[in-house]
Order: sequence, then structure tokens, then C-alpha cells
Amino acid sequence: MDLFEYQGKQFFAAYGMPVSPGEVAFTVEDAVAAAERLGPPVMVKAQVHTGGRGKAGGVKFAATVDDVRTHAENILGLDIRGHVVKRLWIEKASDIAEEYYASFTLDRSAKLHLGMLSAEGGVEIEAVAEENPDAIAKIWVDPVVGLTEEAAAAWVDAANLNPAARDGAVDIVRKLYQAYVEGDADLVEINPLILTPDNRVHVLDAKVTLDANAVFRHPDYEEYDATQSRDEREQAAHAKGLQYVGLDGTVGVIANGAGLAMSTVDVVNQVGGNAANFLDIGGGANAEVMAGALEVINNDPKVSSIFINIFGGITRGEVVANGIIEALSQVDIDSPIVIRLDGTNAEQGREMLAPHLSDRLMLEPTMLDAARRAVALAG
Ligand code: GDP
Ligand code: MG
Repeated sequence: MDLFEYQGKQFFAAYGMPVSPGEVAFTVEDAVAAAERLGPPVMVKAQVHTGGRGKAGGVKFAATVDDVRTHAENILGLDIRGHVVKRLWIEKASDIAEEYYASFTLDRSAKLHLGMLSAEGGVEIEAVAEENPDAIAKIWVDPVVGLTEEAAAAWVDAANLNPAARDGAVDIVRKLYQAYVEGDADLVEINPLILTPDNRVHVLDAKVTLDANAVFRHPDYEEYDATQSRDEREQAAHAKGLQYVGLDGTVGVIANGAGLAMSTVDVVNQVGGNAANFLDIGGGANAEVMAGALEVINNDPKVSSIFINIFGGITRGEVVANGIIEALSQVDIDSPIVIRLDGTNAEQGREMLAPHLSDRLMLEPTMLDAARRAVALAG
């Protein structure tokens, strides 16, 4: 779950990190009014779920309220890497002496949290990693131990920041780690973290990705969920409570379990096709869930065949078969459907499906066979 910059800053501020005052604006008039309240100079910043806004013309300095009007007019509606700007963040402008980079994310292979800190901030960290990897100081943090003050200080020293920034940076990276862990984030990134001419260390940009599976622990994340950008298909699937991610291909995919759903997308690609989506129906392969899943996929104009891939564990084959038969009596599906049904009571399920089979509804013995068939049907 990606946050807008201003939400990320709000999230950081809750952990005591210094951010600038600002206001959200949806219209040019909102932006002007916000700037009048804040007092220029201010920054006019596009709020979209993507980076590189500055380069794309989505971050502008405004010395006067008139400048705010001009910039707001230009930025609202701007397309930044496929994201159309619908809201702005008007923020009191900061003076910058130096720009740094700081982040935490999970290093899966090390099974540790990875912190990255660099004196070369303000530019894309991927470029720094490529051209000057030594400029990034890394720290691997054991989640059981946490980030101690000594470790944080040694890490900041290794990053060779301006000595004037040292204490402020140590304080901020410790709070950043706390926000990352306690806030159940997958990624927290500050780029740039700045040193001001009067030697304050300050958060100037915020990129935060929260773990959507942890929302139940944080009732206040509801508001972040409400502002997620989803395409029409994802919106419809989300409303039905389905775990769906839209992709660009022509083979609609339904599977039970996230792992199997990902493998299904992979196997479709492996045999030369392209999946139209990831869709995990979880353990609930009943008629209602199946009908909902089929409906969402059927409404995707790119889909020309559907691959239902079920491996029964706790979910039993006959329940799945019944779910598919019932669902097909409820919704009209335009594309041919290929089913692979294996696992618990699969035999029984396949027998139930047998009388319903046709050139619109096919059963294949293995995942690979089913993938090939679905891809061939997609053309
Ligand atoms: P991004 O391009 O999406 O990463 O957006 P940022 O929020 O990082 O802004 C891009 C750049 O604009 C920063 O690296 C800064 O150089 C500049 N910038 C952002 N806020 C301010 C500010 O308050 N004052 C000044 N002088 N520059 C700013
Ligand atoms: Mg930035």
C-alpha cells in the first residue's frame, strides 16, 4: 500500500521526525488559499504514487502566491509516468545546504532489515548505486536486536555526512527505523533528507509502502487504503474482497493461494502466453467467490481465455467443482475456460464437472497442460 508524499510525512511526523508544514489542495483555488495561509515561499508538489516528480515538472518552487497559481495550473492534470495529478501538496519551502538519502527495507536473502544512507541524496538512489556504490553506507539490522544508538551513530559516520548533520541524522534514522518496524512498513525512504543552512536535519520527501496485511493492526490506515490508485478492474475486485492485481496479458488467471496464483502467472508466461491478472481466491472456492472472480475477469476486454488452477488442500475438490458449476449458472462468460483440478477429492470434483464439459469448459490433467491449452485458446 503506497502512501502519497504528504501521507508519508504525516506518518513520519507521528514518530517525531521533523517535516515542513503544508496543506493538501485539489484545485488551483485551494492551492492559492493554502499558500496564503502558509505564507510564501512555498513548494507546489504533485501527489502521485510514483517518484521522479521533480524531473517531470511536478515539483516547483513558488516565491509568490501568483507563482503558486501558475504552478498549480500547470501541475494539476499533468501525467507523470502514467499517473495523472489530481492533488497537490503545498509546503512551506525549505532552504537547502545539502541533500542526503535514507531508507529501510527488508533484505529477504539476508533475513534482516537493510538500512541505506548516503551523502548523495536528491538523485535516484539506483543511479548512485550504479555509478558510485561506495557512496551508500549500508546497515543490516537484526529485528530482534533493533537499531541501537551506537549502531546508528556508526552507520551515520560511515556515510560521511557533514559533521553538522551527525546528531540530527542519528536521531532521524532511529525514528525512521521505529516507524518502519512499528508501522509495519515494507519501505520507508527519505530522499532528500536535508541539512539546512542553519544546521537542522529535516525530511523533505517521503516514500512509504505499508504492508496491506497489517491494516487490521492500524485502524488509522483505512484512510491510506481509501486513496490507493487502482485501475477499474482492481477497483471491482477489491470491492468483492478479491486479491487481484491487473496485468497486461490475455489469459485470465484464477487460483487458490497466492503462491499458486503466482506460479500460474509464471507457467502461462513460460508456455508463451501472457497472464491478464493475478487472482487468488484463497480457501473460499464457493460459488459466490468463484462467480465474483469470473465476473471481474470477464469484464477485462483483453481476456480471451480463462485458466482456473486449483490445488485442493483444505479446500476440497467437490466444493470447488460445485462452486464452478454454480458460478457458471449465475454469470455468462465470454471466454473459454480451462480447469486444472488437483489435490483433496479432485477425482470427485472432476467427475462432477464431466457432464458440463464442452469447447467452452475444458479440464486438463496437469497445470502445464492446462496452461498450454489456455494460451493456445488465447491465440
Ligand atoms: P521527487 O522528484 O519525486 O523525488 O520529489 P522531491 O520531493 O524529492 O523533490 C525534488 C527536488 O526538489 C528535491 O530533491 C529538492 O532538490 C527540490 N525541493 C523539494 N522541496 C524543496 C524545498 O522546500 N526547497 C527547495 N529549495 N528545494 C526543494
Ligand atoms: Mg524525492
